[in-house]
Amino acid sequence: MSDAFPDPHLGEPFLLTPGPLTTSLEVKEAMLKDWGSWDDDFRALTRDLRSRILALIGPGSENYDVVPIQGSGSYAVEAMLGSFVPSDGKVLVLANGAYGLRAAKTMEYLGRAFRLLDKGDYLPPRGREVAAILADDPEITHVLAIHCETSSGILNPVAEIAEATAAAGRKLLIDSMSAFGALPLHPAEIGCAAFVSSANKCIEGVPGFGFVVARKQEIVAAKGNSHSLSLDVHAQWETMEKTGQWRFTPPTHTVAAFIEALNAHEAEGGVPGRGARYSANRDVMVAGMRALGFETLLDDEWLSPIIVTFFCPADPAFTFQGFYDSMKTQGFIIYPGKLTVADSFRIGCIGRMDADVMRRVVAAADNALKSMGVASAAPPHAALEERQKLSA
Ligand SMILES: *Cc1c(COP(=O)(O)O)cnc(C)c1O
Repeated sequence: MSDAFPDPHLGEPFLLTPGPLTTSLEVKEAMLKDWGSWDDDFRALTRDLRSRILALIGPGSENYDVVPIQGSGSYAVEAMLGSFVPSDGKVLVLANGAYGLRAAKTMEYLGRAFRLLDKGDYLPPRGREVAAILADDPEITHVLAIHCETSSGILNPVAEIAEATAAAGRKLLIDSMSAFGALPLHPAEIGCAAFVSSANKCIEGVPGFGFVVARKQEIVAAKGNSHSLSLDVHAQWETMEKTGQWRFTPPTHTVAAFIEALNAHEAEGGVPGRGARYSANRDVMVAGMRALGFETLLDDEWLSPIIVTFFCPADPAFTFQGFYDSMKTQGFIIYPGKLTVADSFRIGCIGRMDADVMRRVVAAADNALKSMGVASAAPPHAALEERQKLSA
């Protein structure tokens, strides 16, 4: 490891996963203290958390506010959908992977109208498709886009989706769970009504809460919309504004760790700095894996600096479990793939790791192939044919 990244993981393997991820020692140490949820010191942490997230969204931030929600990221997605989509609203859900489909499932649970554009495992929803559906269906009030679809690692074309949504006079909601903090997102500029992210992704905190960033007027107008007491964004916001407290038990240790994570984010140069390190992680890792013969699902144009999907080699000596076990023994936890079309695995670029670590990841993959007796890491022909669809 370089000096900039002293061993953060106390001998544990690196998590090459999209969160929870490897955090710094400082972030872990910030949790060695108990906080009273009503106490001024903790309320100051909550204030700090909200204002510092807001500062990351750039121009126009004065018209937005931040509402943290207890739970994992999906709780924040559900809070956003349940709070901002009125019961007579209708959402166009743009899906190209598990998280888009989960948002559609959430709409089913909410019992509110939605239309699903399902592009399959990874093909991006395009602005022209969104424009055509919105022109065809005047009942649609909101569009939900996934910023980085973590199940393939594709960076979706949010700018063109935003443009089509604004041109049709509809409201845009974004799941930026795995992108916010590393990739620029300026909601005022693109006309985004609300987006969500969580503590344990690109800010490099630990799991325990998500947060909704929304236009203040949307929050005010959301009063009475929510299907759920605990996921009511307006009620959480109102209480926080009045008392500085969360409505129900806050994840105190997670909040303290998050403040420490924000300090490191700031010291690294904020969103551009964080994005640059993750991009270097991806570039080093992808180049190294390609040199070993592995192939990525996506062309470079669509590769996010968050997580990358590789096809499993066609060589019969290769098994995902064998590869996984060997990588783990060498100190790296990788992630299974989520493609229905071909066997795959994923390697994350986010968390407390730098290019040096990624070089060691590639060396470990090389070792793993050799120890399994895999002669070639080339994927099956069918996988490469599937990939042609993206360029078509
Ligand atoms: C991580 C993630 C979520 C939330 O998942 P949880 O397991 O509930 O934290 C939602 N959307 C995307 C795109 C994600 O990457």
